[in-house]
Amino acid sequence: MPRDFSTEAVVLGSHRLREADRIVTLFTLDRGKVPTVVKGVRKVSSRFGGRLEPFTYLRVSLHEGRSLHTLTSADTIRTHAASRDHPAALKAGLSFINLLARETNDLEGRPRTYNLLVRFLDELDRLVKSSAAPACLPLLALSADLKLLLLAGYLPLLDNCPLCGRSIEAPARFSAAAGGAICNECRADAFPLSVTALTTMEALLKQPLSAVPEIIIDSGTAREVWRAIREICHYHLGIDLKIAPV
Ligand SMILES: [Zn+2]
Repeated sequence: MPRDFSTEAVVLGSHRLREADRIVTLFTLDRGKVPTVVKGVRKVSSRFGGRLEPFTYLRVSLHEGRSLHTLTSADTIRTHAASRDHPAALKAGLSFINLLARETNDLEGRPRTYNLLVRFLDELDRLVKSSAAPACLPLLALSADLKLLLLAGYLPLLDNCPLCGRSIEAPARFSAAAGGAICNECRADAFPLSVTALTTMEALLKQPLSAVPEIIIDSGTAREVWRAIREICHYHLGIDLKIAPV
C-alpha cells in the first residue's frame, strides 16, 4: 500500500491532541477505523473548516504515519447537517456510531460495515428532511445496530431456541449468553421478551433501512429491543452502551 492514499470516509468523532491539533476518528472505505491527526484545525483559517463534524461524509487524502495517519485533504460529499441539527436524529446517529466505534478495530477493512454506516446516515437525513414520525429515528438506529451485529457475527437466533431447537412461542425470553431468544422449557440467564419485540427484531434485521418507517411499534417495545442489543454487546464484546437511541 502506498503511504499516501485517497479514500472515502465518515467522521465518527474527534478530540483535541495539542493546542492546535485534533485527532479525528474516520471510518474509511478501505481501512476501516483510522485515527487521524488534523494539524492546525483550531486555527480560524483552518482549511478543513466545519468538514470534520461527526456524520460528515468525505473524500479524503491521508498520509500513513508510524502510529497515526495525517489528513492532507478533505472534500465534502454530504454534510448530513440536517441530522446533526435535529436532537432525536443526533442522538440516534451518535448511538449507532458509538456502537460501531467500539465494535471495530483500528485499520481493519470492513467495506460492508462502511456501506451500512453511509446508508444509515443517508436514511437518517432523509427521514429528518421528510418530517417522518419521530419514532422512526430511534428505530432506524436499532435496525442499524442489529445489522452491524449480524455483519460482526453476533447475530442472535430469533426463530428457534439455541439450546433445544424448539421453535419460539409466546411468551419468549432472551439470553445473549445462550445465543438469542430461548423457549420457556430451557433454563438460562434470560429476561422476558414480548412477541412484538421478537418480531420487531426479525423485521429490523431482515428489512432494508429504507423500510424501517413502515415498522410501527410503541416505545416500550423499542426499549425491549434496545435491552436485547445491549445484552448482546455486553456479553460478546464486553462493552456497555451508554447512548440510548430510545
Ligand atoms: Zn429451549
